[in-house]
Amino acid sequence: MLSLRVLIRPSRCTRWRRYNHTSPYTPPADSTTSGAGWRETPALTEKISHYSHFPATGVSLQQMVQFGGYPSDGTLFRASQFIVEELPIRLAHRVKELESLPLHLSDMPSINRVKEWYAQSFDELTSIPLPQLSDSVRKKLYNPSKRAKLVVPVGNTRPKSGLGIQAEQSPLGEQDDVYNPNVNRIRSQATRQYFATVEDDIQWPPEVQRYNRVVSHALQRIKARHDGVVSTMAQGVLEWKSSKFYQPDDDVLQGFLDRFYMSRIGIRMLIGQHIAINMDRGIRDDYVGIICTNTNVKEIAQAAIDNARFICEDWYGLYEAPKVLLHSNAENINFMYVPGHLSHMIFEIVKNSLRAVVESYGVDADEYPPVKVIIAQGDEDIAIKITDEGGGIPRRASDKVWTYMYTTAKETPSLEPDVSHSDFKAPMAGYGYGLPVSRLYARYFGGDLKLISMEGYGTDVYLHLNRLSTAAEPLS
Ligand code: ADP
Ligand code: MG
Repeated sequence: MLSLRVLIRPSRCTRWRRYNHTSPYTPPADSTTSGAGWRETPALTEKISHYSHFPATGVSLQQMVQFGGYPSDGTLFRASQFIVEELPIRLAHRVKELESLPLHLSDMPSINRVKEWYAQSFDELTSIPLPQLSDSVRKKLYNPSKRAKLVVPVGNTRPKSGLGIQAEQSPLGEQDDVYNPNVNRIRSQATRQYFATVEDDIQWPPEVQRYNRVVSHALQRIKARHDGVVSTMAQGVLEWKSSKFYQPDDDVLQGFLDRFYMSRIGIRMLIGQHIAINMDRGIRDDYVGIICTNTNVKEIAQAAIDNARFICEDWYGLYEAPKVLLHSNAENINFMYVPGHLSHMIFEIVKNSLRAVVESYGVDADEYPPVKVIIAQGDEDIAIKITDEGGGIPRRASDKVWTYMYTTAKETPSLEPDVSHSDFKAPMAGYGYGLPVSRLYARYFGGDLKLISMEGYGTDVYLHLNRLSTAAEPLS
């Protein structure tokens, strides 16, 4: 029943479903990835500490598509090296933060479980051995003339074999270097270097291909392990709220969760992108990994609206959900974006509007005022306004709607993920994650999400997206 309408969708730019890394409702990984039997050793703790001294390197949408739709094995190899170095840094930052949270949050069993997943994934990635490459292959991988300009020597530098960046610039460096403030600048130069494609279309040796495969498989395992992070984290917050340590300090929790989930979006973006560029080479012209270079905003919006209306009908037992009218200032609005992110945001916002309308008019109403979705294309921005006449939000609650787990839904769906249902079984409301997570997605690529309400009448939600795609990831 449920699946039929949800699965019917337009043909373009819909592959995001397969990489639906955006849903907070996905069940946790099974026992093969959940880390049963895995233990953190003192050596690992030390290694995590070491990596956590290096700043993460932000990557822009523009950089992520530089590989093109059909990258060579050499290009993929360098991308693999980048991710094998960058992800552990980001994971190490999270482990460190998760074990030192204020107000005894770190003592909650579910939060500790999440921390262990991060540490285990760190362990896996940093244990992948680099292949031995011949000098000629290495030369092809790291064009020395280009590299010479980019390398900024710091102290006693010693290049690590096979890597395009030097020891001090990388946590993989052999000497125990202390944190160097220049590292950030140098690392971002190194990133640019990695993101340059290796043009040479030679026959790459099997070690190069094997390394790419090993990295890809490790990333798939890690992605599955972390599927349940959002619900487990929410569980951890509930544990804390019912513990003796609970203090109603919204700012601490909000700041931490914003940073944590934003970082998760970035990590999953890099992982999803890497898996997709490896697996789907050359499948579609308008895709690089999970980024669609020609995302059709109206089509994505229409599919998200159809999904939201269907879930609304299912939830309230309605014959027909309130209508949603879609307007735009141009026939075709296309830009480079991640269709999965766009779809997630519009779906969540429209769902909120439908709920407000149905609940303010009642499930037995003969007619509902339509929700309006207006898409405007400008030179810099694409703006989407979602307007409803669902009674609005009192001003007293207007800040609260951005806090995690704030909801006015009477029933909160069980946090125990129901494995018998697919990803599509997104609930109508009740987690209180719709707005704050959507705002993180918007901000991740330099956009924003705002909500203005007129209590007693309705709500306008503005989603601004950056067309220029040069904004680097916000990292903290
Ligand atoms: P959830 O939908 O799970 O409750 P959200 O973060 O999506 O979580 O929304 C939080 C709360 O904000 C909702 O419970 C609702 O009270 C309020 N809200 C959001 N959008 C609207 C809207 N369009 N009209 C009225 N209230 C809204
Ligand atoms: Mg919602």
